[in-house]
Amino acid sequence: MLGLLRSLLARQLSPRILRILLPHRPVFYGHLVSNDSNHPIREFYNFPSVYEFEAMIEFTLEAGYRFVSLETYLRSRSRGECLLTFDDGFREVRYVIHPILSRRNIPYCAFVCGFESIHGPCKIRNLNTQGPEFLSLDDVKYLREEGAHIGFHGNRHDPITSNWTSADILDLVRPPTAVSALLSRPWAFAYPFRAPQNFEEVDALIRSEGFEYLFGTEYWDSSMYHFGRVSIDAPSGNCQAENTALQGLRHLALSRTNIRRMLVERNRSSRQSRER
Ligand SMILES: [Zn+2]
Repeated sequence: MLGLLRSLLARQLSPRILRILLPHRPVFYGHLVSNDSNHPIREFYNFPSVYEFEAMIEFTLEAGYRFVSLETYLRSRSRGECLLTFDDGFREVRYVIHPILSRRNIPYCAFVCGFESIHGPCKIRNLNTQGPEFLSLDDVKYLREEGAHIGFHGNRHDPITSNWTSADILDLVRPPTAVSALLSRPWAFAYPFRAPQNFEEVDALIRSEGFEYLFGTEYWDSSMYHFGRVSIDAPSGNCQAENTALQGLRHLALSRTNIRRMLVERNRSSRQSRER
């Protein structure tokens, strides 16, 4: 399928035609946008340059999508709406991404970490980051006043694994007061790294802390509170607009596979309970 799409892209089919192949309501996520090729986080995220990011936005709009706020995305559920999110809270969200998006009136969500990143340093993928700077509390306040939806990304950037206890999870997801005061309603949480395999149980625990919506990268829950996202970072050094289309297809496969997987598991467990 991806091979076919690549050859279609090579013939420069219009985004509107590609749109037929793409998912109805994708949720995208990135980390930062920067022209700094020596950025210390470059080793970990293949983030787009300003030119590449603007090209992706253009491409997505030409394909007939509308970027909407989280509230609209949750409420209207109409075809062609997409949501843009940024994880980790790098300062580029305020100083690079926000100016590009606010010029175009494009809403977005920023998932910020707790004190360890806001006051740095924060460990991202085991890199004790001395170089990249994170948003300050004032930056987050500014973005919120400007209309960005502020969500939470954990007190530390640690992957929750299946053997974590409830206490471990709560220690990660309970925001400090100064941060919780800045979170937008409804509260949303983006898993650092990825959601654990037992994400439904962990979702329930995090939701009991007041987070209504969960964002990950692996699973798409059909009950509409856990969203799988596709990355705007390039997997192989190509941040071109076409990447959006490929990632969009990945999203489609992701949501279908996981909805199917969940249905199979639900059928199996209801069969087991009937047999007992
Ligand atoms: Zn992250």
